[in-house]
Formats: sequence, C-alpha cells, structure tokens
Amino acid sequence: MLATYAVRVEDSRGRRYSEPSHPYRNDFQRDRDRVIHARAFRRLEAKTQVFTRRYSDHFRNRLTHTMEVAQIARTIADQLGLNVDLVETLALVHDVGHPPFGHAGERALDAAMREHGLFFDHNLHALRIVEDFEMRYAAFRGLNLTFEVREGIIKHSHAYSTKDHPELAEYLLDQRPPLEAQLIDLADEIAYDTADLDDGFEAHLLTLKTIRAGLPVFEAFYHEVESLYPAAPEKLKFNETLKRLLNRFVTGLIEGTTARITAANIQTVDDVRCHPKRCVGFDLGSFNAGLERDRVSCKEFLYQNLYFSKALEAEKQEAERVIQDLFHYWLRRPSDLPSAYREKSLQDPLPRVICDYIAGMTDPFILTQHKKFCG
Ligand code: MG
Repeated sequence: MLATYAVRVEDSRGRRYSEPSHPYRNDFQRDRDRVIHARAFRRLEAKTQVFTRRYSDHFRNRLTHTMEVAQIARTIADQLGLNVDLVETLALVHDVGHPPFGHAGERALDAAMREHGLFFDHNLHALRIVEDFEMRYAAFRGLNLTFEVREGIIKHSHAYSTKDHPELAEYLLDQRPPLEAQLIDLADEIAYDTADLDDGFEAHLLTLKTIRAGLPVFEAFYHEVESLYPAAPEKLKFNETLKRLLNRFVTGLIEGTTARITAANIQTVDDVRCHPKRCVGFDLGSFNAGLERDRVSCKEFLYQNLYFSKALEAEKQEAERVIQDLFHYWLRRPSDLPSAYREKSLQDPLPRVICDYIAGMTDPFILTQHKKFCG
C-alpha cells in the first residue's frame, strides 16, 4: 500500500525516448534492472569504499556497501509507504559515479580538474554515465531511465542551483526531491557509519575501548549486550551492539520522518516537493530525543578516528599521486588515450575527457595503467 505522498510509477514523467511498456515489470523495476546490468554498476565491486583490498578481502567495497544501502532504504521505504521500486533503484545507482580509491580519489580528481577551471562531482558524473556513457541499447545512448530516477541521482544528497547548473534545469531544482530520493542520503549514512565502525574494528584501527569511550550511544547498547551475554566473545558482543545501533538509526529515521510528514501536513508528492525543507530526518518524535546528536557524533568519531587516521594516510596519498600522475600524463600525451576518448577530445575539453576516463576506472585497473604509463 503506497502512502498518498509516495511517487506512483503511473505518474512518472517518463523516459527521454519512449519505449513500449513491459508485460510484467513496471518502469521503476525496469530501471532497477538496467542499473544492475550496467557496466558501471559491476565495476563498483573493485572500487574502494574505505579500505582497499590490501587490508582484507572481507571488508566492504562499493558494491557491497551499495547493497547494504539498498537493504536499509527498502526497509525504511516500506515502513513509510514509499515506492520501494524507486527507492531500490536510487540506492543501487547512488554510488556509480564514484572514482577509484574512495574519497581520496574523488578529491584528487577534483583538484586536477580545478587546475583547468573545471571540477569533478560524483552525482553529475553518475548522471553522465546513465545518460551517455553506458552503451547497451541499439535505439539510444545511455540507459534511458525515467525522470524520477535521473532526478534522484542528482538531488538525493544536496541541492544544485539553476544559476550554477543551467544544464540541470529540467530537474526542478527549486523544488525538493520526492521522499524516495531524500531517503537515500540518510540510508547511505546509516549504512556507512555502522559498516565503517565494523570494518574499522576488524582492521584493528578502532579499538573497542576507543569506540565505547567516544560514542555514548554505542556504550549504552554495549552495556545491554554485556548483561545479556556476559560470556560471549568480544567480537560477538561488538556485533550485537552494532546491530542494535543500526536498528536504532533505522527505527529513528522511520519515526523522525513520520513525525516531520505529520507536522508539515504532507499529503501528496507536490506537498513534498514544495515544502521548504526536506522531510526525511531523525530529529522529531518522542523516541528520537538525542538521536540526531548521536548521528552527528558517530560521524565525527569516524572522521577523527578512522578517515583521518595516520594508518590510512599513506594509502590516501598514494591514491592521490596515482590519479595526479595519470591525469598529467594524458594531458601531455593524449595520443596514449584509448581511441574512443581521443575522439571525444575533439568535442570536449581534454581535461574533462581524461577525468571521465579515470572516474570510470576500478582500483586495480588504474594501478595497472599507472604502472604502464608512469611506472
Ligand atoms: Mg554511498
């Protein structure tokens, strides 16, 4: 049962190129399947989330992270009466625009572009992938996704202005995105906050002592687990605590969002779009006292103790160096780019073409290229 404020697939603004409908999959289900069959989606398997394969082969990569986001987002969407097909599609596509080497790679690529008065933005890149780079269908370039999926790719995490991005004007930039898209940003955050605690602990970069001392919400759940399972191994107590933390965030997001929807008297998708603020959030509802603070402290804890930790520094610097080296190499020697990219550079600025090429690479592929051209 869809809520009145959910996006209805029959109300979709449709695809760029009209296509006959499918006998038993609706348009958002087809979009989900197109994303899953895209090359950019498969490449997520070999892209770093936080930890490279050097640490361990059972940590998250961008593909397994994406699956966790989809699982969390589906659960929340279902409870809120939102369109689960649209939410799942948006979750599966949300990271396809990420370059190799996680955030270090993104920063390096952006810095290289800024030397030429350009920039790199992973949401805009994701849109270019699904609109242009994916070549699977005879009738059109790209995946020909519905408007709502393309809009969600652009608007799920933050707003873009028409002044800075006239090319995005069709995406109703002065309006909020539907709840299905708003949800992705916080489902993403819940997924990576809990997963990064897990992988950081497993990698011995975070100790139980540091986490318990730094995160009161974790400490409270740990106490509960200790009294239930005093004899359990530490790792299982950790897992039980993390499970409770994940559940707390998910339940809090469902309750907080419901409270915001009620307080703003949201009835329709248009109400969502025209409301001055986003309606997906933690910070309303009796159950949620302190939850927004817990979310922020979790994020800050991870920045201080994991993302900016000394242990990951060398690897991040190497990632930046690899991207800078290759970017500058191809600027000097565009003739060493693959022919498709050489052709593109006749129309687009060379830095943009190189950026597109690098952004699509997996970690292992870019390392091979670096060895070949800059080794
Ligand atoms: Mg993500």
